[in-house]
Amino acid sequence: MLKLQGQLPIVHASTRAPYLVMVTKNAQLPTHLKQVRALLMLPGLDPTGFKTVLAKGKEQSVGSLGSDVFEVSDDYEYLDEGDILRVDPASGSMRCLYRRNSLHNTILLTERCNHCCLMCSQPPKQADDSWLMDEAMELIGLIPPETEALGFSGGEPTLYGDRFIELLQYTKTRLSTTAIDVLSNGRAFRDLAFAKQYAAVQHPDLLIGIPIYCDDPVRHDYVVQSRGAFDDTIQGILNLKAVEQRVEIRIVIHRQTIDRLVHTCEFLARNLLFVDHVALMGLEITGFTRPNLDLLWIDPYDYKDVLSEAMAVLNAYGMAASVYNHQLCTVNPDVRGNYRKSISDWKNEYLDECAACTERDECGGLFSSSKLYKHSAHIKAFS
Ligand code: SF4
Repeated sequence: MLKLQGQLPIVHASTRAPYLVMVTKNAQLPTHLKQVRALLMLPGLDPTGFKTVLAKGKEQSVGSLGSDVFEVSDDYEYLDEGDILRVDPASGSMRCLYRRNSLHNTILLTERCNHCCLMCSQPPKQADDSWLMDEAMELIGLIPPETEALGFSGGEPTLYGDRFIELLQYTKTRLSTTAIDVLSNGRAFRDLAFAKQYAAVQHPDLLIGIPIYCDDPVRHDYVVQSRGAFDDTIQGILNLKAVEQRVEIRIVIHRQTIDRLVHTCEFLARNLLFVDHVALMGLEITGFTRPNLDLLWIDPYDYKDVLSEAMAVLNAYGMAASVYNHQLCTVNPDVRGNYRKSISDWKNEYLDECAACTERDECGGLFSSSKLYKHSAHIKAFS
């Protein structure tokens, strides 16, 4: 697992407030660029004039007076030219917000949410964190236009209302060819006027991923811990499609959803055939899933026949559908055509068992959290 955030030993702090800065290995930049760059120190480079210096050892801070100098460990070996960091010289905290060589950059817009899902990977908080939106706007201004893909997540991004729409508009202007994925619970779009605002952005490559956990409204509302959620979400999807927006339905498979999974897929096929994609997703063992593990856990190997049946329904109706976040050795061969390697690169791992597996290149592996806390008891190398 890549360490995207942590505390760095402070060698020297010249400023106090947090800021965003782009990583470079080029010490020969003009002065005005050095003032907005973090130099990744290598032997022989002169760090003079850089806003930030990331050094392997304290001695490399020599000559960098005037910079914020941090000591970076081998955990941050992945940092490369063009990556973007948020650094806080007062506390020494650092977070990598964007990796230039990754297709898995997701920008967290808020931790606030009007749901409280049993398996939420980002447990909601009530505090005003609108600084994250300010930061996202600044970050979009720094990200290179050739970036292929980018995600926006929460919390619930649509809680920002008009500011969320402004962000999409600005992103379209700055990153006109970048594919954008938004994760939302979809409820805000029950308001047709808001769905129209969203559509009016006319983004050329925008997909919104919305969960429907069960065809039974009571069960869906239970999973998201919010009464009325199912009706609002369905209305939101209908409104989004009425204004011709691309929608992906996401179903996280766990003990509370598995016995209705086939029915849920039949419901989607009969009522929402016009959505653009359906993702049947494995459980990530993080956030609320950990304390709720007894309520949620079911070994993927034990539901593989149900997964096959559910996927067969979606395929029979001609819906674009994928299996995300599963290991190849835990699914039946008949879902191979829908199987995707979907786990973000920074939290994607394999077990020792996988080393000898002949299907390793085709397999999406595991979440780092699954490796640490819970994974299928049937991980078995193909030979
Ligand atoms: S043994 Fe590992 S690499 Fe092979 S299919 Fe299973 S999880 Fe994937």
